[in-house]
Amino acid sequence: MTENLTLDYNLLKDLTQAYGPSGNEKQVAALIKEYAENFVDSVETDTLGNLILRKNGSGKGSNKKKIMIAAHMDEVGLIVTYIDRNGYLYFSPVGGIKVAELPGRRVMFGCGLKGVIARERKVNEQGKPIGKCFIDIGVLGEEEARNKVQEGDMAILTGEFVETDSHIMAKALDDRLGCFIALQACKNYQGDHDLYFTFTVQEEVGARGAKTAAYSIEPDLALIIDTTISYDTPREEYSTAANKGVAIKAMDRTIIVSPRIKQWMTNTADQHSIPYQCEVISTGGTDSGPVHLSKGGIPTGGLAVPVRYLHTASEVAVKADIEAAYALLSELLKNPLDI
Ligand SMILES: [Zn+2]
Repeated sequence: MTENLTLDYNLLKDLTQAYGPSGNEKQVAALIKEYAENFVDSVETDTLGNLILRKNGSGKGSNKKKIMIAAHMDEVGLIVTYIDRNGYLYFSPVGGIKVAELPGRRVMFGCGLKGVIARERKVNEQGKPIGKCFIDIGVLGEEEARNKVQEGDMAILTGEFVETDSHIMAKALDDRLGCFIALQACKNYQGDHDLYFTFTVQEEVGARGAKTAAYSIEPDLALIIDTTISYDTPREEYSTAANKGVAIKAMDRTIIVSPRIKQWMTNTADQHSIPYQCEVISTGGTDSGPVHLSKGGIPTGGLAVPVRYLHTASEVAVKADIEAAYALLSELLKNPLDI
C-alpha cells in the first residue's frame, strides 16, 4: 500500500460518540468543522444542514476538476411517539433499526438524558414475545417524563468505543467511518482539483441531504464513502466481508456504477496494491443513488468499509479495511478519471 498510514483513531472515537440521528446532525457537524477549519479553504452549511468543506486545487484550465466526496453524518435512531401515564416512552425507528433486537439496550437523547429499552410482557401461543418496546428513563410518572422529553424527540443507541490491535467496535461507524476517512483525505490532500468534502444529512431515511448538496455543487465527478454489510458471520448472502479490503461498489438498489468508473477505481487499487473487493447488494442504497441522478447525471463511484452488525450499538470494523479505504480514496483524488 501507499505511504505510512497514521490515521488518528481518537478522531473516529469522538465522531462515533457524538449524537446525530437523522435530521439532528449538528453535534457531528460541529466536531467536523472544528477539526477541519484550519486546513480547508471554505466551510459552508446549506439549508438542510449538509456541511461542505472546500479545498481549492492548484491546477489550471480543463485539467482542474470539481470533485464531490460525500459521507453521511447521521445515524439510525428512535423517535418518541407517545408518553404513557407511568412515564414510559413509546417510539418508532428512524432508519433501519430492528426494534425486536433492542430490549436491554441503552439510549440517549440530544439533551444527554439516558434510558433503557424494555418490552411489554406479552407472548403469543408459542411463547414468543410480541409486546411493544418502550423506553424507561427512570422517572416517577408522565409529568416528570414530560419535563424532560416530548413526542418527536429523538434518541440514539449508546455504546462504548473499543479499539483492539486490529478492530474497532463502536456505535455509528455507519457512517462516521466515512466522515473520518473523508476528513483524513481532506487534511492530507494537495493537488490540482477543487474538492468538495460533503458531510450529508438524513442518509438513513432515504439519502435526502445528498440530493440537494449534489444539485448545488454540480460536480464533474462524485465519490461516496459509506459502510456496507460484512457477510463474514454465519449465514452468508453476499461476498463483502471484513478484512478483505475496501469495497468498490458495482450495484445496489439505487445505482449501477458505470463500468468505466469501476474500472478506474479497481485499476487504481491494483496499481497501489490496495486490497479491495466488489460490492453488490440488492437491498438498500447510499448517497450514491440521488447524487448520480442529480442535474443531467453525475459520474459517481462508491467505496465502502464492510462493517459487522450494522445499525446496532456495537458495529465492528477491521482497521486494515479502513486504511485500505483511505488509501484508495487518496489515490483516486490524485488521479481522477478523465470525464
Ligand atoms: Zn450508511
